Amino acid sequence: MATTANRTPTSGGAVIAPTFEVRCPADGRVVATLPEMGKANVALAAAELRAAQPEWEALGPDGRGKHLLNWLDWILDNEQRILALVQAESGKSAGDTTIETMVAVEVINYYVKNARKFLTDRSVRGHNPAALAKSLRVFIRPQPLVGIIFPWNYPLGMPMMDVPPALAAGAAVLTKPSEFTPVAWTECVRGFREEIGAPPVIASITGGGEAGAAVVDEVDMITFTGSARTGRKIAVRAAERLIPCNLELGGKDPMIVLDDANIDRAVNGAIWGGLFNAGQACISVERIYVQEPVYDEFVDKLTAKAGALRVGMDPAGSWQNDFGALANDAQMDIVERHVQDAIDKGASVTTGGQRDANGLFYPPTVLVDVDHTMACMREETFGPTLPVMKVRSEEEAIRLANDSQYGLSSSVWTSDPERAERVGRCIEAGAVNINNAAANAFQFPLPFGGWKESGTGSRFGGAAGMLKYCREQAYCSERFDLTSELHWYPYTKTKGELFNRAVRLLGARGLRRRLGLNG
Ligand code: NAD
Repeated sequence: MATTANRTPTSGGAVIAPTFEVRCPADGRVVATLPEMGKANVALAAAELRAAQPEWEALGPDGRGKHLLNWLDWILDNEQRILALVQAESGKSAGDTTIETMVAVEVINYYVKNARKFLTDRSVRGHNPAALAKSLRVFIRPQPLVGIIFPWNYPLGMPMMDVPPALAAGAAVLTKPSEFTPVAWTECVRGFREEIGAPPVIASITGGGEAGAAVVDEVDMITFTGSARTGRKIAVRAAERLIPCNLELGGKDPMIVLDDANIDRAVNGAIWGGLFNAGQACISVERIYVQEPVYDEFVDKLTAKAGALRVGMDPAGSWQNDFGALANDAQMDIVERHVQDAIDKGASVTTGGQRDANGLFYPPTVLVDVDHTMACMREETFGPTLPVMKVRSEEEAIRLANDSQYGLSSSVWTSDPERAERVGRCIEAGAVNINNAAANAFQFPLPFGGWKESGTGSRFGGAAGMLKYCREQAYCSERFDLTSELHWYPYTKTKGELFNRAVRLLGARGLRRRLGLNG
């Protein structure tokens, strides 16, 4: 690690920091050298954002929306350059980068369009006649400074799911990209700060776990996407600091193929749903359960189609591969361990199963004769593997699908809508897709959130995806200018009895209790 002085305009930090190199996982070349920020840099960046946030909040939803749309224009005007950075730091194929800007376009437009509605103060009615003396309202105010920490699998798409609703809500945002892929995002943050005339209400903190921990220590609310291991640490620190914490963690999404499914569509869905981005997506298909009558046909077609996919690093400007490299050595180790463990316990590989000699490439791999004693069916793989298990019935498929500590997303494939809903309602996961894989994640009015160890609460989507960055303020105002109230000092027996009678009269069940005849 080099030790050059660094001052980055995307953070506002002016403290000398060591640097770290970001390398392309496909060929090992250095893509960028960035500051490894520590506590002092993070504190400086946080102070700058806090100073700018009141002006940002005062702009209101429409004023903030103008800046967000200008940012989107700038991103689209620089799309090719930004996506080249994404490809270089992640090693993904050109095709797999298309989702990155799609998410930016969709999420920014969705929250800009709806911010005014989601953030509008609301009046509420009291629930009993005594409340008629009061006017009750709820104000929505942003958390001043929000922290957003995210992983490496979508360098632009991941933060774009979280950052636009936070900014649109009026918060300032301290972001922390993964140390493996900070380059494209940091450039987008620079665009916001330097190219569109917006106030400096966002910063990109570069570095590893220590920088992330420093972010948690500075903010008023933290949103984290990443591994369950890191999520636990962040939850503990957030609890110590008494700040709200929203976690989106790993997944082991099941795909259930019933005997009346359109098998060709299910096979194509499994191929894309399990292998897009080299399987490095939290909502990718991680395990497949196929009903006996269609199992052989499904496996034959899956094997043929998976084996025909093209894997490799796209030369600049080409779209010649379907998916690219794994993100790092640790990811390769997990994939190799899961495949070897399955083989050791009796599974067979119908295609793939061996990493390429050069670079971090692993071919699409179909595993059969798998069961729940194997790591590939229980632990998150986050790689290009498709383990397939034969099941006798719908009930067996549901039982196995739910036999997991995770519950992020899932899919059910059948031509019978009633059967789909019956099975879907039994699945213990935050989302169920019918005859599609991972589709829910791109329908932004829907809530996106993991159940069980996959997460806590709604990560994005709908009003909840914006309101989690806000605080509700109860506004309770008197309609009449009375000198005193029945339950205020000084207490007297008469006032106390009158008060108790009023409470019973308005809230008790049955005439006897209302009139206090039971003593
Ligand atoms: P990770 O947990 O190792 O790192 C995620 C981020 O946390 C990185 O920016 C890292 O620098 C930071 N970090 C590490 N230690 C920290 C600490 N102590 N305090 C604060 N921040 C810290 O995860 P990863 O390897 O980058 O990503 C892969 C994981 O992310 C997988 O488990 C995957 O399922 C999950 N993921 C989940 C979703 C989802 O929406 N549920 C989406 C994408 C990825």
